[in-house]
Amino acid sequence: MNITNNIKNIKESLPQNVTLVAVSKTKPNSDILEAYEAGQRIFGENKVQDLSKKYEELPKDIEWHFIGHLQSNKIKYIAPFVSLIHGVDSKKLLVAINKEGKKINRKINCLLQFHIAEESTKFGFTFEEISQMFQETSIADLEYIEICGVMGMATNTDNVNLVAKEFKNLKTVFTTLKQDYFANHHSFHIISMGMSGDYKIAIEQGSTMVRVGSSIFGARNY
Ligand SMILES: *Cc1c(COP(=O)(O)O)cnc(C)c1O
Repeated sequence: MNITNNIKNIKESLPQNVTLVAVSKTKPNSDILEAYEAGQRIFGENKVQDLSKKYEELPKDIEWHFIGHLQSNKIKYIAPFVSLIHGVDSKKLLVAINKEGKKINRKINCLLQFHIAEESTKFGFTFEEISQMFQETSIADLEYIEICGVMGMATNTDNVNLVAKEFKNLKTVFTTLKQDYFANHHSFHIISMGMSGDYKIAIEQGSTMVRVGSSIFGARNY
C-alpha cells in the first residue's frame, strides 16, 4: 500500500465541501504518520483504548474522531481530547456524554447515528426515536454537547441502488432534523456517510464527511 498516494488520490477526487476522515483502526503509528506527512490531519478510531494510546503518542494537531460503538463507562477516557464522536445512538449515551463534558467543562461534538441499513446488526436511532427524544428533551439541556449532524452506514451489498437509497434517506433525515430542531444551529452541518466501498455513492447523495480506511491503509487483519 502506498499510503501517501492513496491519500493524495482520494483527496483530489473529493468535492471541496467533503471532509476526509482517515480510518486508522488496527493500523500502527507508522502508517498514521505517513498519512500525516501527506497532509492528513483527521483520523478515526473505533476502540477507546487504541484511540487514547494513539492520541498520547502522535502529533497533537491531529483531530481524533471516535467512530465505534461507545460505552458510557469509557466516555471519560476520550472526553478531554476527542474532536468528534460519530456514533451516538441513544438518549442514555447523549446524557452520559453531557455529564462527562460538564465534569471537565468541555463541549463535546457529536453526531447522531441513524439506522439506515436493512441489516439489523447496525446500531442507530430510527427517525421516530429521535423525534420522540427531542419532544421530551430540549437540546438546550444538553449544554455540554454540540450536535453537529448525522451519521449512518449503508447495507454491505453490491446493490448500488439500495445503498444509494439508504444514503438518500439519511440526507432526508438530516434535512428534516435541521428544519424541525436545528434551524438556528450553525454547527448542525455534517452528514457522515460513505466508507471505502461506497463513498462515491454517498457523495452523490449529499455526504459531507467520508470515513475511509482500507482504501488508504490496505485491508485490516483482526
Ligand atoms: C471501519 C470503519 C470505516 C472504514 O471502513 P473501510 O471499509 O475500511 O473504509 C468507516 N466507518 C466505520 C464506522 C467503521 O467502523
